[in-house]
Amino acid sequence: MNYISTRGEAPPLGFEDVVLAGLARDGGLYVPQAWPTLSPETIASFAGMPFADVAVEVIYPFTGGSIPRDELRSMAAEAYAGFDDPAVTPLVQIGPNRYILELFHGPTLAFKDVAMQFLGRLMDRVLAARGQRATIVGATSGDTGGAAIEAFRGSPRVDVAILFPEGRVSDVQRRMMTTPTEDNVHAISVRGTFDDCQALVKAMFNDHGFRDRVSLAGVNSINWARIAAQVTYYFVAGAALGAPRRAISFVVPTGNFGDIFAGYVAKRMGLPIDKLVIASNVNDILPRTLHDGAYEMREVVATSSPSMDIQISSNFERYLFEASGRDAPLIRAKMRALKETNSFDLGSLGEAMRNDFAAAAASEADVVEAILRTRAQSGYLADPHTACAIVAADRTLDDNGTPQVILSTAHPAKFPDAMQAITGERPALPARLDGLLSAKERITTIDNDIGAAEGIVEKLTRAVLEQRG
Ligand SMILES: *Cc1c(COP(=O)(O)O)cnc(C)c1O
Repeated sequence: MNYISTRGEAPPLGFEDVVLAGLARDGGLYVPQAWPTLSPETIASFAGMPFADVAVEVIYPFTGGSIPRDELRSMAAEAYAGFDDPAVTPLVQIGPNRYILELFHGPTLAFKDVAMQFLGRLMDRVLAARGQRATIVGATSGDTGGAAIEAFRGSPRVDVAILFPEGRVSDVQRRMMTTPTEDNVHAISVRGTFDDCQALVKAMFNDHGFRDRVSLAGVNSINWARIAAQVTYYFVAGAALGAPRRAISFVVPTGNFGDIFAGYVAKRMGLPIDKLVIASNVNDILPRTLHDGAYEMREVVATSSPSMDIQISSNFERYLFEASGRDAPLIRAKMRALKETNSFDLGSLGEAMRNDFAAAAASEADVVEAILRTRAQSGYLADPHTACAIVAADRTLDDNGTPQVILSTAHPAKFPDAMQAITGERPALPARLDGLLSAKERITTIDNDIGAAEGIVEKLTRAVLEQRG
């Protein structure tokens, strides 16, 4: 199977190259040349099947056979062995027709582990087959950094350097990055904001000499393997609730459009999805886009659901490409307009978007109300990201008998200050993280300066040491 760029000006690549490349060279995102489909019998067989086995069935078609099925099976088994629930992503019923899909049972208590744990194994395998090393550099506002460090700690082929804004991530989030002891993972505190960190990472990718010297690779949410891995839990939850016999609705807390795009992919692969709902906080670019037919960037507002505090939804480009019938020149024009004017009109794609999705945004007051009401009605404690989805479900779904699955993207203990402000109680960390708050931290602090950032990455990573001999 080959992958093509949404902007139509980069060479098609195979699965393994796409995993290492991340962004296409023309600035676009890679999508499979054709969508694989799963038969109704296959989907029905997922009911009761171990999560890792479903992952193999879902991901294998995307590899184009480049990875043997049994190798994929051992990678998936290893990736999900560390989750603290045997179902990996269990469903919890909180109402007559309403379920929470808990995606936070991995090592860093947020849904990014589901994809990152798999991606870690996959990258090691691809690099080993080629005799290469890679250096992963990423910026994080909280969740991605910890998930990447957890996924690659101890990797024989990959070094990881994560830049985070000094003093602007929660204690739990910082400690998840700074306490792993393996010497191939590095947490770098930058005297600056998240945007500064992201700009530094972008500048490193644009410095081609540096990029080649350290074999730079990316693991942000535009990496195709992350999307593919996330498709799995839509099938797992769907089959558990009666698909393909009946359709299911999903409500997804959305930032970069990665998680919800995985739901769209599940639908294209044959999962009967009734409604696919985009849930946001007050950073509501996607609900506004759906309702107004125009994508317009605004300032980011800090909320109690920080992982959704974004103003650019990178993966949305993949959806636009699909909705336009894969019209790469049109996508280039829209992205040019976005760069020049910070906005673009959806035009005829607006109607397609309204057919494929529903959307709603939750205010901070809505989030508080939803957390307290859900706890009172069902005893379930939702984190603020999940609460945005509960609000969106109430606003967009009818009680018509279709099962409603609300994706829960974080454990409430990951955001203890926000939860304490809302409920008066500090949720306890799961026992397996007992040592986290007292473990020794290892942090390198740098100025917001590209020379300093490149210098520290070159000093720390093995890809460089090896070339120096
Ligand atoms: C990253 C993240 C999101 C947003 O996911 P996208 O794939 O970017 O839409 C939502 N909730 C939490 C807790 C996250 O870490």
